[in-house]
Amino acid sequence: MAKKYYITTPIYYLNADPHIGHAYTTIAADVMARYKRACGEDVFFLTGTDEHGANIAKSAANAGLTPREWTDKMAVKFKTLWEALNIKYDGFIRTTDPRHERVVQEIFEILLKKGDIYKGTYSGKYCMSCEAYFDDGELLPGDCCPVHKRPVELLEEETYFFKLSAYGDRLLKFYEQNPDFLSPKSRGAEITSFVKAGLRDLSVTRTKVKWGVPVLSDPGHTIYVWFDALVNYISAIGLGEKLGLKEYADDKINFDEVWPADVHLIGKEIFRFHAVIWPAVLMAAGIALPAKCFAHGWWTIEGEKMSKSLGNFIDPRDITQKYGVDPLRYFLLKEVPFGGDGDFSIDSFKKRFNADLANDLGNLLSRTLNMAAKTGDIPADYKPQGAFADKVAQTEARYSANMDALTFDKALEAAWALISGMNKYIDESKPWILSKTEPEKARTILLELIYGLQKAAVWVQPFMPSVAAEMQNRLKPGPIGKYAPLFPRIEG
Ligand SMILES: [Zn+2]
Repeated sequence: MAKKYYITTPIYYLNADPHIGHAYTTIAADVMARYKRACGEDVFFLTGTDEHGANIAKSAANAGLTPREWTDKMAVKFKTLWEALNIKYDGFIRTTDPRHERVVQEIFEILLKKGDIYKGTYSGKYCMSCEAYFDDGELLPGDCCPVHKRPVELLEEETYFFKLSAYGDRLLKFYEQNPDFLSPKSRGAEITSFVKAGLRDLSVTRTKVKWGVPVLSDPGHTIYVWFDALVNYISAIGLGEKLGLKEYADDKINFDEVWPADVHLIGKEIFRFHAVIWPAVLMAAGIALPAKCFAHGWWTIEGEKMSKSLGNFIDPRDITQKYGVDPLRYFLLKEVPFGGDGDFSIDSFKKRFNADLANDLGNLLSRTLNMAAKTGDIPADYKPQGAFADKVAQTEARYSANMDALTFDKALEAAWALISGMNKYIDESKPWILSKTEPEKARTILLELIYGLQKAAVWVQPFMPSVAAEMQNRLKPGPIGKYAPLFPRIEG
């Protein structure tokens, strides 16, 4: 049986249109899913939308819609964007799906029965926009939310708590025994010291928020959006069926064949939820823990933080309609080491497009095919020998190791080292001159180049699926056609 691979994006909160930040995570997950599929693994790639909470109700009201109408409309925007970006997911979960809601309720009741959830009173400083309480130490001067820079409200309510405080030691032990869980390492230290400082029980219900999943045994409470949202990773893959819930009777997905997740891809701002609360909830419910939680960085736009007030949210289609989908996918994962922060500017996009895609890859393909067309066709089963074969094998090993480690930029760097190496190989060996004196040698060089390009097509496929298909088509065995440049240079 093929090895299974389960990868998730966060489910996106439907209070605003999708932008380049959402696209980044989802493209990265799609790249990984395509890579693992190409490796022959049995991939399940899950994405979706987070649809409950006071902010959604507010956005809906502002638009003159019911929350349901609003989320139906917004979920379509995300799905449409993923289609436009050539994202091939296996599951799309919406937290308003009644089947998801039922699993959330069930997990809550399981924890309640075990005593990991208990009823109490909470009073604290609450940001309505974050839908979260803040400690004094986290607030900005004037009791302002560190995210929204607006004053928080003092709130007291009857609430259910999740006994997070009881899980500190177990979490620390888990991190220690599973050093890859907190990824990248540079961000893991922050989580470990947060847990070491001592965890407090977490309020997991609201009485004021009506747009949420009601607690089954106490419907005056709705379940906190974060608790609700995290459960998507297990509700979407058949846990309901395993728990014997009738809503899931027709579920085709076998939970035990998919779970645990191999990687949860997330943005750094939600690392704590995924690396602290989520594993603790799973421990409490007696469910296995995910293998890895990878927190990537943020994009600034032309040097500025993306924000509503600056109006600098980039719709990825602004780029793809002009320059194509694949170049954007390539740029986002090549420009910045995955895990770090990056800056998106049109200028750097154009530079990278011209240098890496037009000059290196596109040019190599045109030169090679133009020369090869003069000397014959492309054979079906050529295998290089010697130094060139070694170079390809080394590149392949570097590429795979980096893909497996989610260091996408380094995987691409490995591929591009061979690509620019091949351009240099042409410059130095001058096959068009060599063909007059040593035609056999010239022919071998061209066959090597074709082989190298066929390999490159495989390596770029997860990042640029349409480009790879076009390369494979041009490089397939048989007579060589005449083609337009793969990446016409961007002028100006
Ligand atoms: Zn806030």
